Amino acid sequence: MTPADPKLLANIRIVLTRTSHPGNIGAAARAMKTMGLSQLYLVEPAIFPNSQADAMAAGSTDLLAQARVCATLAEALADTTLALGVSARRRDIVAEVLTPPEAATRLLTEAQAGPVALVFGNETSGLSNEELSLCQGLVTIAANPDYSSLNLAAAVQVLSYEIRQAWLGHASWPQPEMDAATGDEIEKFYAHMETALAELEFLNPGSPGKLMLKLRRLFARTRLAKEEVNILRGILTAAQEAQQAANRAQSCAGFSPPRRKPGTLQTGHRTATRNS
Ligand code: SAH
Repeated sequence: MTPADPKLLANIRIVLTRTSHPGNIGAAARAMKTMGLSQLYLVEPAIFPNSQADAMAAGSTDLLAQARVCATLAEALADTTLALGVSARRRDIVAEVLTPPEAATRLLTEAQAGPVALVFGNETSGLSNEELSLCQGLVTIAANPDYSSLNLAAAVQVLSYEIRQAWLGHASWPQPEMDAATGDEIEKFYAHMETALAELEFLNPGSPGKLMLKLRRLFARTRLAKEEVNILRGILTAAQEAQQAANRAQSCAGFSPPRRKPGTLQTGHRTATRNS
């Protein structure tokens, strides 16, 4: 059998968000290196670099030295085409819940095309809804329901082990199904949508939060291909241009259109509630 391709492991990154204890960062690096993973990303670590992290990393301090420290999770995921949040708790925000072996298979398949990520949360609060909204799926380690919260580095070890077993078991992987959009392309699409919806007066820029979170959840249920993101952004641009043309025509005619009542949108004969 042909040996498994090391490039696949190099394309799988472990992202630790808002880690409180530097010792956990070191222990996570050790867990990764024992399984052949090397790409460690740290989002807003409380304390790093740190001697406790070095001590817990033992022979894996090279991973700490190369670790990328990012200001936001979006930055850590900008070039990834798949990000799976790792969480003990099931949440509404991400539709798909995978077991660790399923996650390993998915990550290795997608890693053929480019970087992919596993995202781990803070030791106390786990992953926030906002962090999960940047992930396309959720991985849960089926633990004792009465005490299901593993230590952060232990959770990294379980997932890293599953990735290695899956990697060792396959010399080749099926090609990814599509040319998936990257995290950065998807974030730019959401930013474009937010601007366009504000211009169309569908969204109140003063409180965009809930509507945008719901739209993120809608799109997270399907994985977006690069081409689909381009089509959606083209539709947004066309709507913005039509709105601008209507505004110009109205101002030329000296007509000031009545402002729509915030919170409602007239859609044909029906009124849909906004931002609810
Ligand atoms: N109290 C937190 C748990 C934090 S443990 C909470 O309830 O979410 C730190 C991190 O380890 C979690 O954010 C998650 O990424 C991972 N983790 C711990 N136990 C897990 C489990 N059973 N399944 C999946 N991830 C787990």
